[in-house]
Amino acid sequence: MTGIITDFKRFAVHDGDGIRTTVFLKGCPLRCLWCHNPESLIRRPQLAYLTEKCIDCGACVAACPKGAHQFGENGHTLDRTRCDGCGDCAAVCTAKALKFYGREMTVDEVMAVVLEDRIFYGTNGGMTLSGGEPTAQAEFTLALLEAAGKAGINTALDTCGDAPQPLFAALAPHVDCFLYDIKHIDSDRHRALTGRPNDRILENYRFLAGTGAQIEVRIPLIPGCNDDTATLDGIGAFLNAAPPRRVKLLPYHSYADGKYAALDLAPPGAALTFPDAAQMALAADRLRRHGLNVVVG
Ligand code: SF4
Ligand code: SF4
Repeated sequence: MTGIITDFKRFAVHDGDGIRTTVFLKGCPLRCLWCHNPESLIRRPQLAYLTEKCIDCGACVAACPKGAHQFGENGHTLDRTRCDGCGDCAAVCTAKALKFYGREMTVDEVMAVVLEDRIFYGTNGGMTLSGGEPTAQAEFTLALLEAAGKAGINTALDTCGDAPQPLFAALAPHVDCFLYDIKHIDSDRHRALTGRPNDRILENYRFLAGTGAQIEVRIPLIPGCNDDTATLDGIGAFLNAAPPRRVKLLPYHSYADGKYAALDLAPPGAALTFPDAAQMALAADRLRRHGLNVVVG
């Protein structure tokens, strides 16, 4: 069995407890305006080109079987219409101006990467599956979690919650902690901001909480989208009925703009603004009124 992997992040300290290796799986059903991982949205391979890192060595021109890289009057250009996503050019780009997202890997190959840093995981670190959306590659995700369990590796699953409930029932016994996104409490607003309604997401949260699963809820805070009092109270009241172990409030930021540019994509959230520390603190306090353990990420 193989899956499509966007990337790995080693020594991750914000993707669950302890020190972790985060495995990013490619493909996601949502299209959040504030998405920080545009390289993970679609399943097919993608090539990122960071022009500022290019040293004009020409190695990619020789490596590309499709003639997608060229040098002309304007220097180095990449014709994406010719690219079939083989990744050969990224492999020879020593300047790291080219980055290939979308390697097909087996469970054993992914676990070999995860196990390399086993010595650093301690008692609560381990492997986090993120994306994209790991449940979009359901069988592969389940197989990775089972393999990690057999190897004695702690597991966390970072999910948007938008998947069939039987899948969460199958995954739950193999997940030590869910990192579960709640982006908005109103389904119409959720659809406007992410492209999908939230009914199934909320139902799956209730279901998982009912199984006794360990859950850290993650709320990305975006001014003008989900930071109003009614929305925060709605989320707070919903979670109060089945409190997670922790709520992490995450400030929206524009760090992904460079990734969008490297992929020749327009950032969908270009008009969004960022919360300042005072706005984050206010939102956290509002959620705490509902008896929740809230931290600001
Ligand atoms: S191999 Fe990398 S550094 Fe060299 S020309 Fe191509 S993109 Fe630029
Ligand atoms: S990924 Fe393959 S086809 Fe696409 S530009 Fe690079 S070498 Fe050419």
